[in-house]
Amino acid sequence: MRNVGADIGNVLVRAVVCGLVILCLGSPAIEPVRRVRIKVFNQAGAPSRRVLAAEKKAALIFRWAGIAADWLDCSVDASGHYHLPECERAWMPADVELVITDYPGPHLSQFALGCSKPDPQDGYARIFYLRIQKEARERSMTESDVMALVIAHEIGHLLLRSRSHSRAGVMRARFGGEEWERARKNHLRFAPEQSSAMQETVTQLIRRRANAPLLARSNPPPARSEEVE
Ligand SMILES: [Zn+2]
Repeated sequence: MRNVGADIGNVLVRAVVCGLVILCLGSPAIEPVRRVRIKVFNQAGAPSRRVLAAEKKAALIFRWAGIAADWLDCSVDASGHYHLPECERAWMPADVELVITDYPGPHLSQFALGCSKPDPQDGYARIFYLRIQKEARERSMTESDVMALVIAHEIGHLLLRSRSHSRAGVMRARFGGEEWERARKNHLRFAPEQSSAMQETVTQLIRRRANAPLLARSNPPPARSEEVE
């Protein structure tokens, strides 16, 4: 004989559990297990509080994509030394280089706010502080809001291992009014397939780190012909 009351109870318990699972899956509150370490070389002298605010906003965009970002301030002091010794040590596979500079170079378009070299061995991202300042002024946005979106886009190229762009969202080639407005509200996201691809990249990088603890690498000079905006 079946216990109808117990069956109903089981069904309710399963429904609640399923509901919790669905709620959890849809929430950014899940702690991402995939972590990248972003070494920030602030060569443009951008105010650190603005850079920190931009990092916080960019981290949120990556968190929604299932990736946690640890930021390392690799600016140098008056004697030319890094504040943090980790900036000089060998690179880990899941390390990302982000350079804030005022010198885009003539090979890039006048509209480029950043560029990157999405190479698995010695890739890097560069963002252009003076242009970001100008864009922020013209759009009546904070520098941090603009910088966060540019950081997310360029590091997106690195983690996607791709020079491609999408028609909308973080990886759009030229941000339109919708992207800027959503960025201002912290609503801009990577597409689900882009999030999955970046998660896969970081998982592979972490696996490589387990097999090859350190990479012999110093900051490479920009490889202009291989950069994508
Ligand atoms: Zn791009």
